[in-house]
Amino acid sequence: MNFFSRFWQTLKSFLNPAGWTGRFGALLQRGKKTALPEPKEAVPEPPVKQHGPSVVRQYEEHPSEAYMELKYRFRDIGRMGAIAETMGRDFLTAMPEGAWRARLGQIAFLHRRMHEDLTRLDIKHLLDRAKTHAENHSEDWDAWDKANLREMEEMHNRQSPVEGELVEKRARLSYEGRRRHRDALAASDWPAAREFLAEMVDMNRQIAEAKCRAGGGNSYYQALMSEYMPGISVTEVEDWFGTLDKKIGKMLPQILKKQAQQKELVSLKDFYPAKAQMWLNHALLESLGFDFHRGGLYETGHNPVEGGTPDDTRLVIKNVDINDFTDSMKSALHEGGHGLYIQGLPRKTWRYQPVAQDMGAAVHESQALLVEMIMGRTRSFYDFLAPRVEGLFHGLHNPALSAENLYGLKTKVQPGLLRKKADEVTYFFHMKHRFELERDLIEGKLKPSALPEAWNGKMNDILGIQPEGVADGCLQDVHWFVGKFGYFPAYTVGHMYAAQLYEKICKDIPDTGKLIAAGDFLPITNWLGEKVHAQGRLYGFTDLVKNSTGSELSPAPLLKHLETRYCA
Ligand SMILES: [Zn+2]
Repeated sequence: MNFFSRFWQTLKSFLNPAGWTGRFGALLQRGKKTALPEPKEAVPEPPVKQHGPSVVRQYEEHPSEAYMELKYRFRDIGRMGAIAETMGRDFLTAMPEGAWRARLGQIAFLHRRMHEDLTRLDIKHLLDRAKTHAENHSEDWDAWDKANLREMEEMHNRQSPVEGELVEKRARLSYEGRRRHRDALAASDWPAAREFLAEMVDMNRQIAEAKCRAGGGNSYYQALMSEYMPGISVTEVEDWFGTLDKKIGKMLPQILKKQAQQKELVSLKDFYPAKAQMWLNHALLESLGFDFHRGGLYETGHNPVEGGTPDDTRLVIKNVDINDFTDSMKSALHEGGHGLYIQGLPRKTWRYQPVAQDMGAAVHESQALLVEMIMGRTRSFYDFLAPRVEGLFHGLHNPALSAENLYGLKTKVQPGLLRKKADEVTYFFHMKHRFELERDLIEGKLKPSALPEAWNGKMNDILGIQPEGVADGCLQDVHWFVGKFGYFPAYTVGHMYAAQLYEKICKDIPDTGKLIAAGDFLPITNWLGEKVHAQGRLYGFTDLVKNSTGSELSPAPLLKHLETRYCA
């Protein structure tokens, strides 16, 4: 054992008092399997079949032959999706530099094959036969089977209007875009970025056009947004944004005035070794219940990425900032929220079936923002964190690392140019800004070449500040470079759902704040696991929100949360 290994072992045991160890004990309990229930005997009534929670439904016999065939077909499509995901993780983490072009071709090929298998005419025939069976023998179809069939048809219908070549191109460009963006951002190279972005916009407009033609829609932007947020309309988003704009706009000057009168905060700028930061991030995710046995956390030169599969959830964050440990911690908490969602999907029963997939970007971001922004910025969280980071970063009684100071820094509101550095209050305005620009790009009202000017003008209108160049302006985000048009509103819709979920969690779990202060996050993770993660795609978005929170999605809980945290 060399000096550094010994050092880390000592540090770990020093930082391993009851506060952490209790959690690890609970974690082990969480992973334990419960005994399988006795299989129930088949009875003519009730009309809907009963299943034990651990029956592998993917392979369970079903009286509809067509549905059984579909389950096998979709299992294989799901397997290909998992292979593509794993190769995508490899692209971002372990792949040698020289392999990237070949890897792009491999990933794109898999997406084309998946598309071919999904859109074959005989899939349509099988879907029709299975639907007829469901209509005539509803007693053979429980809610999960019905939802699975519904989602199979959804996937088929979503993919069918788009040509295979376009699907292949999209997959290739989305990974290439990560590299293009990374290089253009590092060099502030707008001409190179502009060319690529124009190609991306054009390709996405072609996809949207094909979807509109097949589905009878007339909004290209809606066609693309629906891929990320099925069941949510652009009109709904515009309504929610209108309310938030008005209310947060009113709140912001009051918060700024209030915070200007508060005690000055101590800057965090110091030296925080990268290895120690990653140890902290790892330990936090483990305490939250992230299973490292089927997942990992990597720092890379790429932007943070959510994704992976429930069996292989590799979270990727950007290289740590050695002068501010809260930067990588924020990313790890955010990606950790995504990771918990992925790992909690119903993999054992439905593994590759459409009903076992996540609900799309709005629910995904709700899970990430709930951990990062809602829970991760409570005073209780910093009561838990402060003594640990004092030890970890050798700063006993360092005023910068006190709970009060850390909480103050992380809840400091300051309009800024960068989305990733944005506070929780002005975060919304960054989304509104991008939502309006990407809508115009896709609807053909804004040319990619005019983006920097439009970006800066709108930023000035919304937050009263102007970027100096493209790096802190229109080049800062990776989303459009990986073809994600219609994704940005998901952050705000996710933030709304996260606030609504947290309100319900605080009602259902007594002393939520005390649990967080003790680092005992598992009751919260388990609650989310049961109400959201394990539900897969059993319900549509509206029903999921209603079932988990008791009411329809509304901006009110988010506004109340912001008011309580920042105005009180
Ligand atoms: Zn996210």
